[in-house]
Amino acid sequence: MYPQHIRHWIADAEIDASTGETFEKRCPIDDRVLATVARGTTQDVERAIDAASKAADAWGRLPAPRRGEVLGRAAALLRARERELAEIIQAETGKPWKNAAAEVGSSADLAVFMESEGSRFYGRTMTSPIPNRAVRTLRTPIGVCAAIMPFNSPLAGIAWKVFPALLCGNAVVAKSHEQTPYTAVAFGRLLADAGLPTGLYSAVQGLGSEVGAALISDNRVGVVSFTGSAQTGKTIQQAVSARAILAKVCLELGGKNPLVVCDDADLAVAAQHAVASAFIDAGQRCASGSRLIVFDRVYDRFREALLAQTATLRIGSGPDDDCGPVISRESLDRLLRTVNDAVSRGAHVVCGGQRVERLAPGYYMEPTILENVDATDEVSQLELFGPVTCLYRVTDFEEAVALANFTGFGLTGAIHTVNTHRIEEFIARYRAGLVSVNGPTYGAGPHMPFGGVKNSGNGFREPGTEALDVYCEWKTVVVNHDPARV
Ligand code: NAD
Repeated sequence: MYPQHIRHWIADAEIDASTGETFEKRCPIDDRVLATVARGTTQDVERAIDAASKAADAWGRLPAPRRGEVLGRAAALLRARERELAEIIQAETGKPWKNAAAEVGSSADLAVFMESEGSRFYGRTMTSPIPNRAVRTLRTPIGVCAAIMPFNSPLAGIAWKVFPALLCGNAVVAKSHEQTPYTAVAFGRLLADAGLPTGLYSAVQGLGSEVGAALISDNRVGVVSFTGSAQTGKTIQQAVSARAILAKVCLELGGKNPLVVCDDADLAVAAQHAVASAFIDAGQRCASGSRLIVFDRVYDRFREALLAQTATLRIGSGPDDDCGPVISRESLDRLLRTVNDAVSRGAHVVCGGQRVERLAPGYYMEPTILENVDATDEVSQLELFGPVTCLYRVTDFEEAVALANFTGFGLTGAIHTVNTHRIEEFIARYRAGLVSVNGPTYGAGPHMPFGGVKNSGNGFREPGTEALDVYCEWKTVVVNHDPARV
């Protein structure tokens, strides 16, 4: 099922890199080499952009509801191919089966939502102070969109960008992630089967510093939509600013998300949500709960509930497992080193901190909880993107809000309390794109705008209707319908 060699998907065909060079993709479950992957070049990127530029104009002139019909067919195919696609996701990321399958379902849900947006492609009509003037706004396509995604939810990551981009009348060239190369090809095949005209979706394999950099530097690319780390996002924004012709840059970046547990919270419920937030997908989620901020009065009891809940997690990638491996050996080594270094600075390991030996050579790490960590320490400030979370003790609500905001990120955050004043204060004062009350730190749906503030993003939101603002330009139209009267 999973191919031994993975090529680009350009103009509805699988093709090799122009140099014939490749790199290896390994499986996180057992460290075996899954496939060799085409190592793309600038020439390959140009080929994909050529195809996209040729196809974009006619597609952009189709009525939006007609474009939406392709997404409707893609939704049906996603559901029909759930097993095949979940197998690819699982081979590439190692995530437990239920999470891989859920990703296919949520991608289909997004296609359905975006299809319906084709019938609601609203602009506005405005008044004019001048007689005989009609003023309105229209959404117009941008042309060629570059889509660059992270590895953690490979299919949903592509779907979040490609469905709204296509609905808005653009062609997409995706930079396929090094760690999830075949998902982008299988997605291309599915779109072709759904009737998407040739050239409107391509995926180029290769390294970020090579094909990613070539893609965003091409002046024909009118919008760069990036989801990934803050560091790469900043590099991309700088690179696009240096181009002869500017492009819109949408950045959806990382998080260091707090989950606040007040002294009136249901501690068992809060512990359940804290564990799910910290450890699902091995903590490799932008919205993962990596900072657990707990009132002093309930700290010991919450810690106990948290440990008990963590102990129920099943580590592995099977049908009943909860917590899979991290994406690569490098990532596992980095996480183990980070925990060790934190311990050498005084952190205490409440649980975990080690590789799961029984699952080696798979890249499984024990769910890890640290305490006695300073808020300025790098484990408190850097996004670790692994199954590591920290416990912090605070005396009251004011201190909790201050600590929640004491981060360069601002993606999501949760509060557990039954006090409505605390709830409203947290919603108002915690600076982030998403606030969850008595729930986990994650929570997005196809109809919900998602994104962050500070180093978590540059103001755009995906998906929801708001995603259309990433992939469209607003055009204001002024019609003087009695030109004789100036
Ligand atoms: P990353 O930034 O390392 O890589 C993301 C993509 O960028 C990869 O495809 C990579 O090849 C490419 N890239 C790297 N350098 C590039 C360059 N110079 N030019 C163009 N492309 C380049 O991120 P990752 O490790 O793949 O993913 C994890 C990150 O993604 C975390 O920070 C996580 O929080 C974030 N994330 C954010 C969201 C969100 O919605 N905000 C969702 C999921 C993941």
